Order: sequence, then C-alpha cells, then structure tokens
Amino acid sequence: MYFADRMNRLGTEKAFEVGMEVDNLRRQGKDIISFGAGEPDFNSPEHVKAAGTEAINNNDTHYTVSSGTLEFRQSVADHIAETRGAKIDPEEVIATPGAKSIICYSVASCVNPGDEVIYPNPGYPIYPSMINFFGATAVPLPLLEEMEFRFSIDDLKSRITGKTRMLIINSPQNPTGSKLTKQDLEEIAELAVKHDLWVLSDEIYGRINYDAKPGVVESIFAEPGMRERTIILDGHSKIYAMTGWRLGYAVICNKELMEHFTRLVINFNACVSGFTLKAGQAALTGSQKSSENMVNEFRARRDLIVDGLNSIPGVKCHRPHGAFYVFPNVTECCRMRGFKDALDLQKYLLYEGGIAVLARIFFGEKNAEEKQEYIRLSYATSRELITQGLKRMKHALEDEEKIRNWLKSTSTPGS
Ligand code: PLP
Repeated sequence: MYFADRMNRLGTEKAFEVGMEVDNLRRQGKDIISFGAGEPDFNSPEHVKAAGTEAINNNDTHYTVSSGTLEFRQSVADHIAETRGAKIDPEEVIATPGAKSIICYSVASCVNPGDEVIYPNPGYPIYPSMINFFGATAVPLPLLEEMEFRFSIDDLKSRITGKTRMLIINSPQNPTGSKLTKQDLEEIAELAVKHDLWVLSDEIYGRINYDAKPGVVESIFAEPGMRERTIILDGHSKIYAMTGWRLGYAVICNKELMEHFTRLVINFNACVSGFTLKAGQAALTGSQKSSENMVNEFRARRDLIVDGLNSIPGVKCHRPHGAFYVFPNVTECCRMRGFKDALDLQKYLLYEGGIAVLARIFFGEKNAEEKQEYIRLSYATSRELITQGLKRMKHALEDEEKIRNWLKSTSTPGS
C-alpha cells in the first residue's frame, strides 16, 4: 500500500510503550513498581468531577464554540492575570483537547519546511517529532547537568541562525525537573526580540514549582516585548490531575496567529467538549487547596526519592526544583555493573528488579558532547511505593549473580 513520506518523520512518545510493557508484565502476574508515569497519581478534585457530571446531566454534550466557551476563556484570562501578573482578554485564550496539540498547532502555524526550531534536549519527545513532521529542522539545545539541567545562553546564541523561527522552552521541565531562572528568562526574551523569534513556552508544570509562592508562574510572557511573540502552553492535566479529560489552553496575543489556531482546532477537533470546559472552569475558579496539597506532597516525595537514589552506589541525583521527575546520572552505576548504557539498565531493572524507569533516549537522541548515562523516574506515586521501589532497585543492583546471568542471557552471541 501507499503511505505518505511525512509519516516517516513523525516520532512518538515511547513512554507509552513502556507503560504497555508494564501492563503486559502485570497481566502475567509480575509485581512491578512503576516510576514511569507522566501523570499525577491523584484523582481530579471532587468539585471538578461534580461540575463535569452536572454538565453531562444538563446535556452539555453537544458541540461548543471551537475556541472554547467565553466563560471558560474568561476563567483562564483571570487565572493568567493572577499567576503571571499579566492582563489578557478572553479572546486571547483558546481551549484545546489536551495541551499536547498546542505543540502541533504552533509549529504548523509558524514554521515552514527548511526553517529551524530550537528545542531543549533531553526534553519532551513531541517537540522534535512535530518539528520534523512539518519538514523543519529540529535544533537540539543541550541541557547541562552541571547547570542543574538548564541550558547555557551562549549555547542558545550559537544555535540561532537566519533560519531560526521558533524557540521552545519548558520550565519546570520534563524529564529533568529543571527550572529556568528569572535571569535566563530575561536573556532568552532579549534574544527572541532581537532575532524576531516565536517562543513556545511550555508551562504545563508551571505551578509544580517548589521554590515559587503557590499560584505564581514564572513566565517569559511577562518579559518586555514577549507578549506578542509568546505562545503559552498550559492546561489542566498535571496541576488538577485531569489527564484523561484532555483539556489544555494556549494564550496567544497575536490576532493572526489566533485565527490560525482556531482554524486548526476546527479542522482537527471541532472543539473541546462542553462538560470538560465546565469542569475546567470549576478547577480554575474553585478552591486550589487540592493542587496545593498535591504540590506539597510532591515536594516531600522529591526529597525522599533524591535521598534514596543518592544512597545507591554509582547513582548521582541532583534535587530538581519542579515537575515530578528526577533525572539521576547512572553512568558509574552502569560501568560498575557492566550495563552497556541506561537502556540496558532500564531493561534489567524492569525484567529482573520489578521496577519501571525510563532511559534518557526516550527524551531525544543524545547531544553531540553527551557522554553520561541518565534515567528518568517519575515520583507521581506514593511514598510507600517509592520506598519499596528504591529498596528493590538497591537489591537488584547489589545482586552480582543476577546481573551476571542477565548480562549473559541478553548478550549477542559472538559479540
Ligand atoms: N508538555 C509537557 C512537557 C508534558 O510533559 C506533557 C505531558 O506529559 C504535555 C505537554 C502534554 O500535556 P497534555 O496531557 O495536556 O496533552
């Protein structure tokens, strides 16, 4: 059969594949503790579920306005004023079915084939996937362990060419948990203005920030000259534990770009469902207590998992500032035990240790100068399971015989 060439350029989010593997193993009766999930283990708040079910019972189950109801957009505009300290109109907000689609719409609207887009690496794999899909060149910007997984502004400068159209930033970040500083944001903004770049600012973890005051999002949107060139990506998946509802929103203060986004939503999705918007509105306007409690719990888990990982010989883990991921360096751990790389370690831990983690390559190809090995662990799981999982990891890595047998069984004959 005949297929479009562009499908060869579309990447994927392999974390979902590991999730399926974990499900398979569990169905076979294996006990797996998973540090793979990219979603809170909390449930959506009660008042949010009530607003959603009430809307369904009131038959709010038809098509809605494609950019989202005015009430929902107003609630987002109020929320942006509160969290970013920037006043916007509801017309500058568009609702999307999950925040992920905003990456697609941004690249589709602002970038031509042959243009360049700079994105953080390691990073969310959908960025390069979308950039490549639309025939542009994905230019990785290395996040450096010695800078707590921020990028260097000089590295950014050196990657900007006459073809650069867009820069993607993500703070707090998936997979490293790193956070850009105020000075970073100022310097990035200056460069974006100077080179006339769009900035897609992925703020999906914006309120899972352990150093900021609750409810404050440190956004590049508020920097001088950035209002018209920033696309804020945000949504309800993480901060309100609403991943399954599929609700995101973009803030766009450029009229033409908003028109492009609206047409894209009409073409791909028609709209977000009315009952989801009602639930989303209730989340934004109601009590924020459950989100605050969740962030406090994540902070305690972060400390638990960082301390636990650092007590395992060969593992070195910095203490991230946000999101719910840690990204330990496991180079020495692999070397000491004979694992070829982090992927090899990931497989051993899954099949022999009963714990699921994700190797660095699930978040993009290694950067040219990158020699170290890393894994990502999500601590969106209970403290009890974190403690048990770390114990398992320690035991599995101390069991020399098990490691020897596993390496023997997985090595290619003759190699
Ligand atoms: N951006 C980043 C960095 C993410 O990690 C995710 C989800 O994992 C998303 C965007 C997409 O979120 P949503 O579930 O709302 O599509």
